[in-house]
Amino acid sequence: MFKQPFKHQIFFNRRLKTTGGRYHLNDHHIDINPLMYECFDLANLKAVVVHELCHYHLHLMGRDYHHRSSDFRHLLALTGGQRYAPAIPNREAKYRYQCQTCGVIVNRQRRFNLQLYVCRQCGGRFKLIPK
Ligand SMILES: [Zn+2]
Ligand SMILES: [Zn+2]
Repeated sequence: MFKQPFKHQIFFNRRLKTTGGRYHLNDHHIDINPLMYECFDLANLKAVVVHELCHYHLHLMGRDYHHRSSDFRHLLALTGGQRYAPAIPNREAKYRYQCQTCGVIVNRQRRFNLQLYVCRQCGGRFKLIPK
């Protein structure tokens, strides 16, 4: 697709949180967020990889590899990469707590100790409530 060899390495990296991928200027490796596949599909994963490869190849050719450059936009259009990675959906909260004093509801991925945490707004105690 790029008519250039890819001579470095590309990894899935779970530490990427909100970005789809990242090209590293120092050692030329690419990190890809596995959620780009797990939350979407292979076509989306491919578009994200192609986006990072546009940075990669332009950088190695000594061209302007920044998002705003016309080189970047042109290469992205030629190769069918995506300009923006799609937003990763929030994982659904497993637990709901309600403050027994002010009534605010907080959603959490994990249980927390009701003796240790108090409401940020009013200092009240929380109670686990059914969803
Ligand atoms: Zn980019
Ligand atoms: Zn409260």
